[in-house]
Amino acid sequence: MEPRILDQRPDRPEEACGVFGIYAPGEEVSRLIYFGLHALQHRGQESAGIAVADGHTMTLRKELGLVPQVFKESDLGTLDGFVGIGHTRYSTTGSSTSWENAQPMLSSIGSNTIALAHNGNLVNTVELRDSMRASGVRFRSTTDSEVMVSLVDHFTQQHGSIRGGIREAMRLMRGAYSVVMMTEEAVYAFRDPNGVRPLALGRLGENWIVASETCALDIVGAEFVRDLGPGELVKLSAAGLESEQAVPAEGKSLCMFEFVYFARPDSQMYDCTLHEARQRMGAAMARSAPVEADLVIGVPDSGTPAAIGYARESGIPFGEGLAKNRYVGRTFISPSETLRQQGIRLKLNPMRHALQGRRLVVVDDSIVRGNTTRKLIALLREAGALAVHMRITSPPVRWPCFYGIDTDTQQQLIASAKTVEEVRQFIGADSLAYLSIDDMVTATGGRREDYCLACFNGDYPVEIPESVRAGKMALEEPSA
Ligand code: SF4
Repeated sequence: MEPRILDQRPDRPEEACGVFGIYAPGEEVSRLIYFGLHALQHRGQESAGIAVADGHTMTLRKELGLVPQVFKESDLGTLDGFVGIGHTRYSTTGSSTSWENAQPMLSSIGSNTIALAHNGNLVNTVELRDSMRASGVRFRSTTDSEVMVSLVDHFTQQHGSIRGGIREAMRLMRGAYSVVMMTEEAVYAFRDPNGVRPLALGRLGENWIVASETCALDIVGAEFVRDLGPGELVKLSAAGLESEQAVPAEGKSLCMFEFVYFARPDSQMYDCTLHEARQRMGAAMARSAPVEADLVIGVPDSGTPAAIGYARESGIPFGEGLAKNRYVGRTFISPSETLRQQGIRLKLNPMRHALQGRRLVVVDDSIVRGNTTRKLIALLREAGALAVHMRITSPPVRWPCFYGIDTDTQQQLIASAKTVEEVRQFIGADSLAYLSIDDMVTATGGRREDYCLACFNGDYPVEIPESVRAGKMALEEPSA
């Protein structure tokens, strides 16, 4: 049974994965990774893993479940070493319930062991796997991460150096990837030539850390230094930090959904704190789609900063109208049929006293299939709301993602086939407005060319092979 309890597939883009890597002699490395993974839990709740090494031996623990479910105090005691990597996983390829697909993945290169963990998605996995199989490489799992490990392994043996192996693998891999990899003595981290998925570099005294988000640096007391650049490879070892441009950068295409929804509000990307960007998105929404109302509420958690921004800009009071059952959607316990019928109530509970007799502006980050928004609006009306005006702080999601975010097939995306008015009718809102691409980009302080915006405009920064595209594109091709 799938470990999700509201629907078989959640009605919003699903997070990708979180990665963490550290080289820190003298520190309790497994404990630091554990806390780093805690901070990255929102990026993946299906499995968690930590690999550490002490210069000679590598130890790995990974399991299906949340970080605190996978690691007990006694486990951390057995994970001894000064170098390590960690991972929280949401599956975008391969089965979500297979231990083999949990990360880090291990492989051997000669007498060395390597462990690898990855955030993103390769678009040429099948092609790469087929060519590796033809060279006699065997695969145990169905993930692109294992293909990466095998590629690095294969080319390291050919080149005689791990960095040479990584460089060669990066030349062949197409898609989005932010990777942490380790040997018994060092951590390597590298990012795809378009920089689609984030990867931050931090410093803890004399030691170095890489992590998907800066909130994972903050939690261990590390200082954020900079983002890794597109196509950059770093090595963290006794020699300190070594960096190289392993493959030429092809541009900057950071996933816009990191700003809209995925990343934690206290994380920083492109020199911008996401909480501030989300507040500005809400303020822009208030300017572009004003409405008469009594109360602005956000759909927790990611809708809250934008709701605050909307309220400030419009002068309509902000209030809390929905309480979130924070952890229920992340459990592996399947609900009874009675509970399942409660649907959205398992996650969000309306605060009747705040909503009754009020005309609401409800701010949310996105609408994917529309089912959850429709249930939410019904719930708010049941709780006594007089009117529900939905304000969405991203443009309509019309195109599927191939870069590690689970946004369904194009057919399942409600905005791919319906006009805004048709979506409004479907969800049952009194009014509905989306933020424009320009307003969304401006709110981040960046430029259009710094982002992947493909799920909004169909303009994919990394070409998608026809065979892969066909799996998700049930409708027409994007217009030029
Ligand atoms: S297609 Fe959308 S979700 Fe995927 S990387 Fe681009 S902006 Fe992010």
